[in-house]
Amino acid sequence: MGSNLASAKKVQHVLVGGVNSPVRAFRHVQAPFVILAHGAGVSVQDPAGHTWIDFISGWGALILGHVHPVVLRTMRSALSRNWPLGLSSPYEVELARLMIEAVPTLQRVRFTVSGTEACMIAIRLARAATGRSKILVFQGAYHGHSDSLMAASTKGIPESLGDELLRLPYQDLQAAEQAIQQQADSIAAVIIEPVAANMGVIVPQIEFLQNLRRLTTAHGILLIFDEVVTGFRLGLGGAQERFGVLPDLTTFGKIIGGGLPIGAVGGSEQIMTLLAPEGNVFHGGTFAGHPLVMQTGMATLKELKRHPPYRRLERLGAQLEQGLLLQANRSGVPIQINRIGSMLTVFFSNRPVRNEEEVLLCNRVRFARWANVLREQGILIPPSPFEAIFLSAKHSESDIKKFIVASAHAFDAAGKA
Ligand SMILES: *Cc1c(COP(=O)(O)O)cnc(C)c1O
Repeated sequence: MGSNLASAKKVQHVLVGGVNSPVRAFRHVQAPFVILAHGAGVSVQDPAGHTWIDFISGWGALILGHVHPVVLRTMRSALSRNWPLGLSSPYEVELARLMIEAVPTLQRVRFTVSGTEACMIAIRLARAATGRSKILVFQGAYHGHSDSLMAASTKGIPESLGDELLRLPYQDLQAAEQAIQQQADSIAAVIIEPVAANMGVIVPQIEFLQNLRRLTTAHGILLIFDEVVTGFRLGLGGAQERFGVLPDLTTFGKIIGGGLPIGAVGGSEQIMTLLAPEGNVFHGGTFAGHPLVMQTGMATLKELKRHPPYRRLERLGAQLEQGLLLQANRSGVPIQINRIGSMLTVFFSNRPVRNEEEVLLCNRVRFARWANVLREQGILIPPSPFEAIFLSAKHSESDIKKFIVASAHAFDAAGKA
């Protein structure tokens, strides 16, 4: 770890906080940050050669693991022909087609370079479609860092944009119903992570999503599912297929790029054709639909269709959940595990965790000890209590067992906090 520390210090002279995305700074676990030099399968390595079994999985993007051979082969052959072509290519058509086939509500797709942009465009479309301006979001959700969706949660955004945002507790149907009934005429959209992944994992009651669908339909409000994480992770059709609740617009990112930067927004022909050049809602991008990214995305979605990993991931996820619960119990440390399929969060609490308020009541010192001791034993999880542990198709039963074994020490250490 010594050389890691040294390079971490050097890095801070050129990068703000040593990172390009704050969570990577390990401040939530009060530890020096790790720099990774490469990854393969489920293994990641720092420049000094320390290796870990990776459970960050590219923050969910790498459902096939690091450098999957099929994706790599595609990337290699694309590399020699497909730098930005400057015009449309067959690959964007093909990736869009793969998504439309898999996801129930997609008729048209527009590609962006990030999930942030996808969510930004989704609400722009909703505002144009409805002629209204307010957006209802849920506390603890993350929909990227566009001004509209980050208003009132970071410095540097005009207060007036905060007035356009209604922020309600996740899963609080009464609050949502009241807000919608009182302000329907000014609400353009409700945007929600159909499984929350950015305050740790919270799986909502299906009834909550069903009721949001009912209320938004009744009041002419668009329902946007942010499936940047859940898309192609909870199944090929994402959360909407799994729960049978159908949004008007859906945003994607992470998995659909096969490990390269991407975002997408999709929905009905009627709404999507409001986008330029068919309509007058602008979105464009130099790198939007980048042919290299389109092909790694295609290779990934095809591989997911050919060898769907979801049943196996469910089994491994359940094994990990049960093993961790046993170890925590043995250490006498109360925890809650929120899990769906291959994504889960361990909350240090003796009560259910259903919204941001309950997330913030959890013991973060214990989480930090747990995460840090796991890391000392070769298990790398997100260095924050507000993130999800992600499994990939490359994780084996033996990887899960190693995690569970390492967690014995880690829970003991957490218990002393
Ligand atoms: C990661 C994420 C985003 C933002 O995607 P970027 O590609 O990082 O801009 C949006 N929504 C959710 C739910 C995410 O997890």
